[in-house]
Amino acid sequence: MAKLTPEIVEYTVKLREKLQEAGYAYYVLDNPVIEDAVYDLLLRELQDLETKYPQLIVPDSPTQRVGEKPATKFVSVKHNIPLYSLENAFNIEELKIWQERCKSKNSKVKIQKYDPSESKKLEVESKNSTFKSENYELSEGQKLKVKIQNNDSKNELDSDEIDLATLDYVCELKIDGSALALTYENGLLVRGATRGDGIIGENITQNVKTINTIPLRLKIDNPPPIVEVRGEAFLSISVFENINAEREKNGETLFANPRNAAAGTLRQLDSKIVAQRRLDFFAYTLHFLTENNSEISQFSTQWECLNLLQNLGFKVNHKRQLCSSLDEVTTYVQYWDKERKNLPYLTDGIVVKINSLPLQKKLGFTQKFPRWAIALKYPAEEIPTIVQSVTFQVGRTGALTPVAELKPVQLAGTTVQRASLHNCDRLSELDLHIGDTVIVRKAGEIIPEVVRVLPELRPTTATKFQMPIHCPECSEPVVKPRDEAVTRCINISCPAILRGSLVHWASRGALDINGLGEKLVQQLVNSGLVKSVADLYNLTVKDLTTLERMGEKSASKLVEAIATSRSQPWQRVLYGLGIRHVGSVNAELLSQKFRSVAELSKAKASDIEAVYGIGSETAQSVEQWFEVPANQSLVGRLETAGVRMEVGDYTSNVVKVQGGLLTGKIFVLTGTLPSLKRDEAKSLIENAGGKVTSSVSSKTDFIVVGEDAGSKLEKAEKLGVKQLNEEELLEMLEE
Ligand code: NAD
Repeated sequence: MAKLTPEIVEYTVKLREKLQEAGYAYYVLDNPVIEDAVYDLLLRELQDLETKYPQLIVPDSPTQRVGEKPATKFVSVKHNIPLYSLENAFNIEELKIWQERCKSKNSKVKIQKYDPSESKKLEVESKNSTFKSENYELSEGQKLKVKIQNNDSKNELDSDEIDLATLDYVCELKIDGSALALTYENGLLVRGATRGDGIIGENITQNVKTINTIPLRLKIDNPPPIVEVRGEAFLSISVFENINAEREKNGETLFANPRNAAAGTLRQLDSKIVAQRRLDFFAYTLHFLTENNSEISQFSTQWECLNLLQNLGFKVNHKRQLCSSLDEVTTYVQYWDKERKNLPYLTDGIVVKINSLPLQKKLGFTQKFPRWAIALKYPAEEIPTIVQSVTFQVGRTGALTPVAELKPVQLAGTTVQRASLHNCDRLSELDLHIGDTVIVRKAGEIIPEVVRVLPELRPTTATKFQMPIHCPECSEPVVKPRDEAVTRCINISCPAILRGSLVHWASRGALDINGLGEKLVQQLVNSGLVKSVADLYNLTVKDLTTLERMGEKSASKLVEAIATSRSQPWQRVLYGLGIRHVGSVNAELLSQKFRSVAELSKAKASDIEAVYGIGSETAQSVEQWFEVPANQSLVGRLETAGVRMEVGDYTSNVVKVQGGLLTGKIFVLTGTLPSLKRDEAKSLIENAGGKVTSSVSSKTDFIVVGEDAGSKLEKAEKLGVKQLNEEELLEMLEE
């Protein structure tokens, strides 16, 4: 057994307390204090710890219960059949493990030629061993040779082909609402109850009767004595938004999400309010029972049950699908992971159920879950993990960016082990300690960042991180200007700053030097071949082939790419210089007023600020940059190397920004456009005086939408931002 340390005990206790508090807020108060995905993953962590150290299990652990004890507002009622929760899978691998478990129960062999009356003895041979009973556990694909022998003679007979029954699965959307148990006696609705702790729920019949999609009488002749129906009560997104808008108007607290609004509504004491809230209901489970609650088996598959529920008068979700393999299930899951955003109600995953009811029966239940169903949760956008240390990255401007080194976790399809903490002020704001549990999310779907800390889970041994006083790269002292959030290394020979400058110089928006990436830059700096951006233009094939894994062919290509970069437009060179606040947009604006480096380097901040779109901070930064002797020398060397630092012919037909058609208009680009590259679309907009920003806000005028548009489009829709496709954009530019 794994060794149990005091730290693990402490963490487990804290984890349990946090989950208990969150569970109470969620189930009883309908007012969650943490995100569902975070709750799920913390619960999984507790489960893992309890599996590893069973001595840590306590009877009131959140892992041991289904839901919460119901609040006391309503009369308690015992369910005819318990309402279980669902086991969670967080990825397809976990789904496969579940499938294997189900299959192993489904692998009894049927020998069709076996006839006991002929007193034959059955013997089945597998590759490795011989079985001598009548039931044989097989795994899929295992080949068996079967011999049937008479007891007296040793005659061998061939059996029929032995096949393992294949499994069918019913995939259903996991509606993010609140489970309801409905009881019909002789076809009439007599009771509606919440799930509660799975055994005892609350009797909310009056409220349930207000839901129009729940039939008060079943559409069936000669109904069985008792019919139990289970399903999900939910609120559509639009109804939820209306309710919250109304509550805001009345100064009432808002519901956190449609699920909590639905749960809260079901447990309203005033049924008139429930009726106004327009709850909806999808049915997904059906049981026919005798007067004394014994199951009457009438149907053989879940699929049949769903169809029958529909015939009985229930609303059953149409997005269900019968799948005959895990591959089909996977396709369904992937489809809905994207498409769910277009549904009028929220779903939080897919429920996969074994279709065969006899097999469901055989698989049975654990204390909490049916073994024949599993909920595959959509990938979380925010997840908890532990900070193991904090390191610092030095960027091209010398800024030190703190980075949290994390216990590796899967997030949106990748393993995340590092996350940005932005700057030192942010670090202090978070009050981050090494050993803290933090919530990580992918910012802009690419770079992971630490969103917040869960101090409740902080171990007593956790240490507060120390701000560095020396640059981790060059060991020179760092500075932190009082009015800035950023701590900087100001040593111009710092190798990290040089590396950053080179990568930026070679980047696509700047000099676009194909083949000069981070790894090669590192080699060039480490070898001492390059000590300044200007040194790139002196590199020879011979120099480059001294580097590890650099052949003559690659070296020649690189030298050629560097040579070609000499004739990149002036605004790209200006951007490549990496002057603070001079991004590609500002570089474009400046290059149109100051047509050469000579003009710009002589300009005063006041002249620079006069350029439309340039602010005082940028103007000052440019003026100061050109005052630094090292920068003047760099410019001189670049000019000598033949790098074009003035406007050439290529800009002769550029539309002047001032007074341009799109002056003052703010654009956002999302998705892949049919013919224009991002950079091209951006340049066109900027040349016509528009501005392109990376995120949507209330200030955005237009969003240009291409294929596979992401969350920006969603936000734009919410804010009512005008949408354009590529054609409309081009038309607008032509005008
Ligand atoms: P669950 O929601 O993960 O799964 C079981 C439930 O799924 C069923 O009871 C049923 O209501 C629902 N469901 C929806 N569609 C279904 C379908 N087609 N077939 C079968 N069931 C379907 O489990 P749970 O025990 O109800 O609650 C755990 C959930 O509550 C987790 O998702 C968790 O994130 C959330 N939770 C959140 C917090 C928090 O603090 N945010 C706290 C506790 C629980």
